[in-house]
Amino acid sequence: MPQRIVVIGGGAAGIGAAGAAKGTDPSAEVIVFTDYQDAAYSPCGIPYVHGGEIPDFERLFLGSKQQYVEQGIDIRYETHVSAYDTASKTVTVHGEPVPYDKLIVASGWNYGTPDVAGADLTGLYYMKNIREAMERDKTLDSVTSAVVLEAGPLGLEMVTALCHRGIETHLVDPSPWALSMATDPDIAKPVEDSWVEMGAKLHFNTKLEAILGDANGAVRAVQTSDGEIACQLVVVATHKEPNTELGAAAGLAVGSAGGFIVDESMASSVEDVWAAGDCIEVPHGVSNIPIQGLSGSHAYSQGKVAGVNAAGGTRTYQPVYVPWGLVAGKWMIGGVSFSETLATALGIPFVMGVAQGISRARYYPDVKPVKVKLLAQPGTLKLIGAQMVGGEGIKERADFLAMAVRTGITLRDLATMENVYSPPIGALNEPIALAAQNALSQLDT
Ligand SMILES: Cc1cc2nc3c(=O)[nH]c(=O)nc-3n(C[C@H](O)[C@H](O)[C@H](O)COP(=O)(O)OP(=O)(O)OC[C@H]3O[C@@H](n4cnc5c(N)ncnc54)[C@H](O)[C@@H]3O)c2cc1C
Repeated sequence: MPQRIVVIGGGAAGIGAAGAAKGTDPSAEVIVFTDYQDAAYSPCGIPYVHGGEIPDFERLFLGSKQQYVEQGIDIRYETHVSAYDTASKTVTVHGEPVPYDKLIVASGWNYGTPDVAGADLTGLYYMKNIREAMERDKTLDSVTSAVVLEAGPLGLEMVTALCHRGIETHLVDPSPWALSMATDPDIAKPVEDSWVEMGAKLHFNTKLEAILGDANGAVRAVQTSDGEIACQLVVVATHKEPNTELGAAAGLAVGSAGGFIVDESMASSVEDVWAAGDCIEVPHGVSNIPIQGLSGSHAYSQGKVAGVNAAGGTRTYQPVYVPWGLVAGKWMIGGVSFSETLATALGIPFVMGVAQGISRARYYPDVKPVKVKLLAQPGTLKLIGAQMVGGEGIKERADFLAMAVRTGITLRDLATMENVYSPPIGALNEPIALAAQNALSQLDT
């Protein structure tokens, strides 16, 4: 009898898991349950369709439904799993038990619901499902004023997108600056300034108090500690909450960050159950602290590890160093592991070097500024974090610096690193090397 592998979730983790399971054991029966009408589309592109940079939603689909059928993956769309029982090894679908040999839980995340009056009004947009995004997009041309709740990564993207769309956009966040969990105020400042240039109104240190509706139950304003803001649309871009309710009820252990606890093979605390993606937590490579709510690329990789192992193969997942980056306002912003603010808050000692460099030869058209901030362990000078803001090349630097943190590269290594110098693509002095040199010269004086 072929083994039956059931996957709950058709997002990055679930689809990664299903494909890897089928690849590892082609004879396995692989069934994916998802609440959505689609699987294998990139939610990451949604803000850019809203902003007009990507012309249509169709391009966000990565594969056709037929493609999965041909691969032998049985995706059950719009099919909710209401419970699972790890003793009888069944999941409940439409009230009936569906047996499994191996279960992979890739149930993902939800936005934190605002805990204020009016949170149930029409006009609140929890941007996730592509079908809802398509419908929302049709109404955006009639929106004159919108509020984005919270300056997390998706909030940053949506403020930028709505400004591009010509909508008066208000950002409301209780924190003192954008992306304050991941970055420092000096890194966020150019982004904030560019939003103001684009017409956005920024309300930091501002608490949401209520969402106000009209007689038809549609949003007309939000009430904040900074006053009332009239709007027809509220984009709820609050923090991600791991979707662990069913798993916790089924006995899967949940950790301190709120995600399922898994080992390096993505096995959960219960036999024959794996978990992957934004419903789990994984250790940070420097601090060993469990963290949760990473990115689609993390979810996909974790899904593949879970799929291989559930099907009988062997693959392990490494601790994470979390390179990140995105376009916000007129800038790219990014980093790796610890910011100065986060390291200080956690009591992690560090030395630091900062440099303002450039992206190409200074005489080459469209040369852009690139600011780099490096944090390293005192003594060993091993890199523990980086922060960047600039006009281009932030993603590549974040990826490189994540590998540098992972492999124990020091400020001395970075200060003498080799770099590509070619006028259209790279400056004579690499900003990373300049930041490391600045750190060392401060230490040596
Ligand atoms: C607008 C947007 C922009 C993004 N941009 C980026 C980006 O630029 N870069 C990046 O790396 N990542 C990005 N992401 C990805 C995101 O941040 C997550 O990391 C990613 O969605 C995690 O994937 P996941 O499969 O773990 O969870 P999810 O995407 O949340 O998928 C969970 C799946 O589980 C299903 N499910 C849950 N419970 C059940 C149940 N009981 N029964 C049936 N089905 C169930 C859901 O229907 C869904 O299919 C973006 C996401 C969004 C929404």
